[in-house]
Amino acid sequence: MKMPFLTLAQAREIKKTYPTPFHIYDEAGIRRTARALNAAFSWNRGFREYFAVKATPNPAILKILKEEGCGVDCSSLTELMMSDRCGFHGHEIMFSSNETPAEEFQLADRLGAIINLDDLTHVDFLYETLGHVPETVCCRLNPGGTFTLGESKEGFQVMDNPGQAKYGMTPDQLVEAFRKLKGLGAKRFGIHAFLASNTISNDYYPALARILFRTAADAVARTGCDIAFINLSGGVGVPYRPEQPANDIAVIGEGVRKAFEEVMVPAGLGDAAIFTELGRFMLAPNGHLVTTAVHEKHIWKEYIGVDACAANLMRPAIYGAYHHITVLGKENEPCDHDYDVVGSLCENSDKFAIDRSLPRIDMGDILVIHDTGAHGFSMGYNYNGKLRSAELLLKEDGSVELIRRAETPEDYFATLVW
Ligand SMILES: *Cc1c(COP(=O)(O)O)cnc(C)c1O
Repeated sequence: MKMPFLTLAQAREIKKTYPTPFHIYDEAGIRRTARALNAAFSWNRGFREYFAVKATPNPAILKILKEEGCGVDCSSLTELMMSDRCGFHGHEIMFSSNETPAEEFQLADRLGAIINLDDLTHVDFLYETLGHVPETVCCRLNPGGTFTLGESKEGFQVMDNPGQAKYGMTPDQLVEAFRKLKGLGAKRFGIHAFLASNTISNDYYPALARILFRTAADAVARTGCDIAFINLSGGVGVPYRPEQPANDIAVIGEGVRKAFEEVMVPAGLGDAAIFTELGRFMLAPNGHLVTTAVHEKHIWKEYIGVDACAANLMRPAIYGAYHHITVLGKENEPCDHDYDVVGSLCENSDKFAIDRSLPRIDMGDILVIHDTGAHGFSMGYNYNGKLRSAELLLKEDGSVELIRRAETPEDYFATLVW
């Protein structure tokens, strides 16, 4: 059973100060997750998690992760600016962007960030933009084809399509990029790839690591470049559905260690660091979207209207993603009602749940939508003139802190020219 980290009594108390809907994050859970990840990779001396800022771009979250030894992975100008203001410096910042504007490379370089190049053509672009290339630089690999793991009768446990993805360079282009960068003065190199998203498998990182480790060994043989790190990027998933098994990060770390011993050490690359850029794994389960049932409707189906909508959480509307729902205070009641739980957008895709078996919902009931701590608030938008909600932090001592106020109509109108 998926249990919320918030009780009905806590939610009622919070609601007195911060009306629903709001996103709330669990500091204790975030720290626990970060510590488990760091422990799983403690065998690697240079290991660092670069939290994918795009998942949950909030200074309070970034500062917690900084205290746990994490760096940040940025994808845009504002994420770089936020990370700088949060006190991340130099190689604590990874800059993994694509179709990158010149000013973003300039800021990343000024901050001393590690720049992760998405394409061979970006080598010249970077050199022309900066007038130099950084001494440490990373290149993103796209091995093409399909990436699959764990075939069974039901299909593949993990399947994704790098050959159809816009990211990264081919293996030959990567070697060419290394040669060029070396010629322009780069001294230390990293290799990065992101081959599958939200993987529920302890085998994803080890399989990806093997691909990257072999690529590294091959690149060293062909270019004589010094490999400083391998960046496994994001993609370790979370069980959004209650029946899904959770990944075991300790098993994942051990699987990567084995591949490291088998491929990297014999290739003389045993000093290389392992980096990760997890977003979802770090934060998704440590965030809830909290919303109140405000209307019910009985037509061809049973509908519960809530005060949150797809503007607060887009994943169900755009991916058909499942997010578990708990009716607070009714955790142990039978799920003997079938509902569509819907938001107020003029969009029929604005449904947090379809045909979901839940306890009987009464107006005023507070619902927790689970696993919204990553790619939740941050994907929000203003369609229908909807305003972004507040973000709150449930601190380790049980107190609640406002870490982003809710938008007001003035915010929404602020950019308009009347
Ligand atoms: C989105 C992204 C991540 C984080 O992905 P998760 O699925 O949240 O783990 C990491 N690295 C890059 C380059 C990304 O684009």
